[in-house]
Amino acid sequence: PARIIDGKGVAAALRTALAARTAAFTARHGRPPGLAVLLVGSDAASHVYVRNKRRACEEIGMASFAHDLPADTREADLLILIDRLNADPAVDGILLQLPLPDHIQPEVVLERIDPAKDVDGFHPYNIGRLAQRLPGLRPCTPRGIMRLLEHYEIPVRGQDAVVVGASNIVGRPVALELLLAGATVTICHRFTQDLKAHVERAQLLVVAVGKPGLIPGDWIAPGATVIDVGINRLPDGSLRGDVDFDAARQRAAWITPVPGGVGPMTIALLLENTLAAAHGRCTAQTP
Ligand code: NAD
Repeated sequence: PARIIDGKGVAAALRTALAARTAAFTARHGRPPGLAVLLVGSDAASHVYVRNKRRACEEIGMASFAHDLPADTREADLLILIDRLNADPAVDGILLQLPLPDHIQPEVVLERIDPAKDVDGFHPYNIGRLAQRLPGLRPCTPRGIMRLLEHYEIPVRGQDAVVVGASNIVGRPVALELLLAGATVTICHRFTQDLKAHVERAQLLVVAVGKPGLIPGDWIAPGATVIDVGINRLPDGSLRGDVDFDAARQRAAWITPVPGGVGPMTIALLLENTLAAAHGRCTAQTP
């Protein structure tokens, strides 16, 4: 059976290292790195994510600024808050938890965030920099996946990589990361005709869709690496990925569990991005 990729453990080690670097930043600049976390409305899953992000900040010595806004917040008022945070010297990173209520256009608000404070890496400026292989703030989940591959020395260059899911948040940027790392990348999505045929060819498979059991275990190529980004809550309250873990485990060489795989890395990379943003601003490298 496959070896388990221990995202929880790798993320814990990364957070310990970041705590030391955060203390050094605070000693040098007389203030901790600061992350503003904005939540609009009361989506249950978003509440959990936001709470975990804020707690993770505080645990490593960063300042966390909470902005919980009612579901009927006007887009114009959200933009005013973003402008205020953009100008606030104590705020190094601004994270807007998605999804937003239907009356707010996420792309309008995300584009208002100062790219130098865009710790989620979703601003078109930062995605453009990623696409051109330039340094910048990059999306956390894809960075976390790349960090896991590096940690376990899983080869990427020259590999046939298949990404299932093409969202702006995960699928598309992880495909770019894999491409920049030298993989030959196929991106599958809701209109893909023969998903099975693509998955069967994957030496490196990343699945980010949000449908439990979408990928049966017998689709996995023997010896493949399987990165399951999906987080699905079943009626009994347990969490599942998009891949049939028990069956896939029998064929893969490496596999991420859900929970305890990609999820903890996303938060650790958010902290790393916040520290990078803080350093970037303090050395006036604002793009
Ligand atoms: P999304 O809904 O924005 O995008 C889903 C993508 O899947 C789309 O590109 C769509 O075309 C594709 N898709 C839908 N049905 C498909 C099918 N039958 N076959 C192939 N492709 C199909 O979702 P998202 O925001 O990218 O999130 C995806 C999953 O990852 C969710 O379960 C989410 O909870 C999870 N997630 C986890 C983390 C983490 O840190 N582990 C971070 C972000 C998202």
